[in-house]
Amino acid sequence: MTVPAQPRSVVVVGAGLAGSRTVVALREQGFDGHVTLLGAEGLAPYDRPPLSKHLFDQTAPAWLADELGGDAVGLADDVRLDAPALGLRIGPSSVDVTTAHGTTTADAAVIASGSHAIRPAGWDAAATLHTAADAAHLRSRLTPGTRLVVIGAGWIGAEVAGVAAAAGVTVTVVEALGAPLTSALGVDVGALTASWYAAAGVELVTSARVAQVRADGVELEGGRRLDADLVLAAVGARPGTGWLAGGLPLDQDGSVRVDGTFAPQGGPRHVRAVGDVARRLSARHGVVAGGHWDGALRSPAIAVRSLLTPDTRPGPGPDDDPAPYVFSTQLGHELAMFGQPGAADDVVLRGGSSAGPSAAPGDGWTALWFSPGTDALTAVLAVDRPRDVAAARRLFTGPALPRLDRGRAADPTLALRAAVTG
Ligand SMILES: Cc1cc2nc3c(=O)[nH]c(=O)nc-3n(C[C@H](O)[C@H](O)[C@H](O)COP(=O)(O)OP(=O)(O)OC[C@H]3O[C@@H](n4cnc5c(N)ncnc54)[C@H](O)[C@@H]3O)c2cc1C
Repeated sequence: MTVPAQPRSVVVVGAGLAGSRTVVALREQGFDGHVTLLGAEGLAPYDRPPLSKHLFDQTAPAWLADELGGDAVGLADDVRLDAPALGLRIGPSSVDVTTAHGTTTADAAVIASGSHAIRPAGWDAAATLHTAADAAHLRSRLTPGTRLVVIGAGWIGAEVAGVAAAAGVTVTVVEALGAPLTSALGVDVGALTASWYAAAGVELVTSARVAQVRADGVELEGGRRLDADLVLAAVGARPGTGWLAGGLPLDQDGSVRVDGTFAPQGGPRHVRAVGDVARRLSARHGVVAGGHWDGALRSPAIAVRSLLTPDTRPGPGPDDDPAPYVFSTQLGHELAMFGQPGAADDVVLRGGSSAGPSAAPGDGWTALWFSPGTDALTAVLAVDRPRDVAAARRLFTGPALPRLDRGRAADPTLALRAAVTG
């Protein structure tokens, strides 16, 4: 049997952002076959970014049907929100997805099972934040005057630290590396955010490794103890692909390596992986890991187009190859990052009072990453500079990395686009 030119039935595994956008994209692109949507949380699809940014002032989930329009639950034929997939078997022209209640067979599968927060072995006493239930748990424990230790000064750790301190919680953030956000931004740019912690009333302890986590605090290597009423592990996320074991080859980090159509690389053409589970190949940026909202928002439409019209190949434009984009509101600052910096890239700073820790409120700055020794721009991080956000978004829409004159790009009085040379 051959793979059908167009599937007549699709099973979507995961009812988060990527899963719900997949269902919406199927209907928007004219698919009138049978759609099954499987979820694991017993809740309609909701938005995760508010869980940290609005931990205390938004107590109900932000439903994606309200936020983005397109009601995946209403658009699918068979919706089971509390039926986690337990296994996937891929046949030559069909797929079987097993749950505790039986097996669903369909012509195609879209894997959108997202990620889950990492909790290292021995850290059982630490809370994590990934779901609406996690957020409710944190809210119930973090009242004014309580003490919170956050392990990890990454995106989520920084966001929670800021809102918790603003809500009257005494917050200490412990970071193993030399600066906040080091894995995303590198230590030099990450260090530019360190002063935000004290300004927000948060103690930041860097280059400090946790030796032990207990319900009443953490002990650092070297013996320092930090007492707490709650410990939050915010040390990253891992793709939620354990259920695929044996069904599809996985990368070492648990992600599904996909091509530009979000089909598993070299794998079956009637399966797609979208959102946090996918590690995709971008013509402009190389290998792009999942883990961010915008990727989960955009990847489903691309995946669905190629699933429904198998002969089409994605083009190099922004709709087919969106630039990696991360946003964050943390410790009183608005961050937007486009592209993907390489570890050895050169950094050029633009704006701010020497773009440093003493930058006055409202005095934003932008970091620009260039491929070593070249004028090829790999990434832009704009901090409190909305104009640079709009410009950066446009820069990464061509087939290749944009080329900028470094000197002009560093001048904050010039528009970023005025630095473009090619
Ligand atoms: C607190 C928080 C704040 C964030 N803030 C930002 C931000 O500011 N900016 C940004 O860019 N990104 C942010 N993110 C990341 C962003 O939310 C994710 O990238 C996005 O939610 C990914 O969507 P997804 O659908 O791929 O995965 P998920 O949102 O994880 O959804 C996957 C769904 O699949 C379900 N599932 C898992 N396994 C199975 C199974 N076997 N069967 C069926 N269902 C299953 C899960 O329960 C889940 O509901 C944040 C994430 C969190 C947790």
